[in-house]
Amino acid sequence: MSDVREIINPSTEEAIAEVKALSALETEAAITRSAAAFASWRKVAPGTRAALLRAFAANVLSHNEELAQLEVRNSGHTIGNARWEANNVADVINYYSGSVERLSGRQIPVPGGIDITFKEPVGVVGIIVPWNFPMPIASWGFAPALAAGCTVVLKPAEITPLTAMRIAELAHEVGIPQDVFAVLTGSGRVVGETMVTDPRVKKIVFTGSTEVGVHIQTIAAAQVKPVTLELGGKSANVVLADADLDKAAASAPYSVFDNAGQDCCARSRLLVQESVYDAFMERFEDAVRGVRVEDPRLDSAEMGPLISSSHRKSVESFVDESMVLFRGSCPTGPGYWYPPTVVEVVDPNHRILKEEIFGPVVAVQTFRDEAQAIEMANDSDYGLSGSIWTSNLGRGIRVARGIEAGNLSVNSHSSVRYWTPFGGYKKSGLGRELGPDATDAFCEVKNVFINTEI
Ligand code: NAD
Repeated sequence: MSDVREIINPSTEEAIAEVKALSALETEAAITRSAAAFASWRKVAPGTRAALLRAFAANVLSHNEELAQLEVRNSGHTIGNARWEANNVADVINYYSGSVERLSGRQIPVPGGIDITFKEPVGVVGIIVPWNFPMPIASWGFAPALAAGCTVVLKPAEITPLTAMRIAELAHEVGIPQDVFAVLTGSGRVVGETMVTDPRVKKIVFTGSTEVGVHIQTIAAAQVKPVTLELGGKSANVVLADADLDKAAASAPYSVFDNAGQDCCARSRLLVQESVYDAFMERFEDAVRGVRVEDPRLDSAEMGPLISSSHRKSVESFVDESMVLFRGSCPTGPGYWYPPTVVEVVDPNHRILKEEIFGPVVAVQTFRDEAQAIEMANDSDYGLSGSIWTSNLGRGIRVARGIEAGNLSVNSHSSVRYWTPFGGYKKSGLGRELGPDATDAFCEVKNVFINTEI
């Protein structure tokens, strides 16, 4: 028997749906069906598979507004962001539909014969995603997996399953079989862990906290099961003295307060060169006070609420331990609102500089010179993202090369473009998603030697 979970709108605190929480037995049954479906999906002609994926992308695109409105209700994302996210899903599926017909092995000259490599789909892939970006993160896993010829069981976060469930229906509507792409709702401990331990699931893509990622890697290791891990972050936004301060200050709020700071790439540490500290902070304060935190259904909204009451308590606990320099405003409630907040921290070992806050809070520090900026940016267990602001391109690249992180941008707060690889150094993850090679993570390479001298 399945349990059900109530789904809450974080802007209103009202229940909006009830969703099944599957049992371990139901999860195993879904994996059985997925493994059976793999036998035929892998044999679907590449042109047909590509056409199905293109039809799926078109169906997502034509339901952009419906998906976006659903995400606003389930996750509190601003409508502008949610439309971008639904659009990103369609783009990513389209992009990997183009990989289907390009998946190929190699012929390697060897003495005494011919050597051929084949790329073969691994089988059933388990994709486990967090609550902060339910739509795009799911698609970064399922689109290349389906393109490679794998079947997918996707587990959304317990509290934000609605858009994933609808996206799967949109796939089924265009002819992708239900057991080729199945969404399994329920808890991490039951559904997620069953996916990781079941030997018929051949690969796990996990996006979430470092703590759960380490646990998943440990249990997957017992079966030598490959995992891709996209984990937490504590990224730095480095403002050098020669930066265009107007542009750097205007961009800085969006590098950390976007999605109410619930973003693995949030630049939650702001490092400003001493000589321009006052000039930068004056501009930054204006920008922070101008962030529109309001009903996420409004086109003008730039930031919505936090995901839950318990998450807001966690964010508050960090701020309670530090000195607030200034903050923006937010509605009083109902809803799990929290204002954009800028804090100053003197102790370099304070937990606000070490741990992921996952809320609209940024800690400011100063540095003397380029070398110290790199040292401070690297003073973290994480290495996911970061920005460098400078008018000297050579310096921008030099600092980017010095920072131990997977996704850096110079004079920009952008982190993700689906054409380019995405993933973290250190405790931010293992492996890469997106970019032209993502399908490789869902293939085994088989090598066959043919003796030509027989
Ligand atoms: P979480 O680790 O609590 O949960 C993530 C997913 O794992 C959920 O679906 C959850 O149900 C599932 N899960 C929990 N325990 C499990 C278990 N024992 N076995 C299998 N599955 C289990 O993370 P969250 O709170 O949902 O998301 C926030 C975290 O995600 C942050 O740390 C954030 O940085 C990270 N994140 C990383 C990226 C990235 O690309 N690097 C992107 C988004 C979010």
